[in-house]
Amino acid sequence: AAKEGGKRRFAVFTPAMRDSIVRRHGLKAELEHAIKQRELVVQYQPIVDLASGQTVSVEALVRWNHPGRGRIPPLEFIPLAEETGLIVPLGRYVMEEACARVSGRHPELQVQVNLSAIELEHPDLIESVAGVIARTGIAPDRVVLEVTETLLVKDAVRGVETLQQLRDLGVQLALDDFGTGYSSLSYLRNLPLDSLKIAREFVEGLAFSDHDAAFVRLIVGLAKTVGLKVVAEGIETREQLDMLREIGCDLGQGYYFAKPMDADADWLAAGIGPALV
Ligand code: C2E
Ligand code: MG
Ligand code: MG
Ligand code: MG
Repeated sequence: AAKEGGKRRFAVFTPAMRDSIVRRHGLKAELEHAIKQRELVVQYQPIVDLASGQTVSVEALVRWNHPGRGRIPPLEFIPLAEETGLIVPLGRYVMEEACARVSGRHPELQVQVNLSAIELEHPDLIESVAGVIARTGIAPDRVVLEVTETLLVKDAVRGVETLQQLRDLGVQLALDDFGTGYSSLSYLRNLPLDSLKIAREFVEGLAFSDHDAAFVRLIVGLAKTVGLKVVAEGIETREQLDMLREIGCDLGQGYYFAKPMDADADWLAAGIGPALV
């Protein structure tokens, strides 16, 4: 088949592909080690009340400080962690770390932790979350777990049950990246949610696309109608902030306020500066 059609065919397996596979394989082998060695660090990005400029919550975002390869972003190793099941110990580590940090030093803030679909399917999840709450002493309603719609693709009934069990522990639930993926109104109707995060894609187009602005308006209105808090992700400019305020969006997160920051940084300064000027 190599000479099919008499045309020259390109090699199917390129050096670049080999490098990528070797790199992925190497990363998988090292990720388990990294979790044990605490090469994973948690950064925190403030979530700001758009009316007052106060930081009200922080989202925990994991990074891998690899001794040889430098800092690896989550989008490069979270999928690997999901494939290998390592997302379970990784997720527990992030949740414990984040709850301990916020519980002790910032009793006024909530803390948001991303939960992947694999973690949600794990039979020990509820016990594990309850354990973190007990050990760190954080009030459960200060913990916000961020989930995406993909969690319902495999087994929607069980997914909803698990979310309800989490809610019974007293933690809050946020629907992340809303508007992308398989968003459906039925999720909003059927999931026990507390808040909705508008995907960065919509916020990006807010200032120059009437179409995107219309969607943001619609999502904010929808969220409020069904009694959900609404958070805009990826606010980068003053213009976006002003429009979101005008639209009536409650909360926001983005580089305009602060990038994800180290555990010992001053998270509270993030919003008050730019938002109130
Ligand atoms: P996400 O949960 O939607 O998190 C928001 C992402 O947007 C973060 O990327 C954040 O740094 C980035 N971001 C925030 N503000 C801005 C902005 O103004 N402009 C731009 N361009 N980006 C902004 P990050 O930290 O690279 O994380 C990417 C994704 O990786 C997260 O998306 C989340 O899905 C996943 N992730 C991160 N940490 C964890 C974790 O501990 N567990 C799990 N399961 N997933 C995680
Ligand atoms: Mg998130
Ligand atoms: Mg996410
Ligand atoms: Mg998001």
